[in-house]
Amino acid sequence: MTWTCEQTEQLLTDYLDGLLPADEQRAFDLHVNTCERCTPLVSSVSHAVANLRSLPELEAPPRLVYNILDATLGPRETVTGWAAVLAWLRGIASHDDRYCFRL
Ligand SMILES: [Zn+2]
Repeated sequence: MTWTCEQTEQLLTDYLDGLLPADEQRAFDLHVNTCERCTPLVSSVSHAVANLRSLPELEAPPRLVYNILDATLGPRETVTGWAAVLAWLRGIASHDDRYCFRL
């Protein structure tokens, strides 16, 4: 199997996640070990991913999503119960005119 630099770039994530089939894994390794362009690329991305994976996982602060929505969309009226269900159905109905129905 002939491996190219473009294949290395396209499949680098799969390689790092261990998802390549055995024959592609061998071709990937063979190419990367002899290619002056791909060797530093794979090395630097591998180290960056390893560093990210070593970071402790943080718990999201309470109301993070709502605070982002407030900051980007502005404050919104909170709707609960049947009013929320009706608002959701109206949202579905307005997405595609082919399936339009009125509530
Ligand atoms: Zn290459």
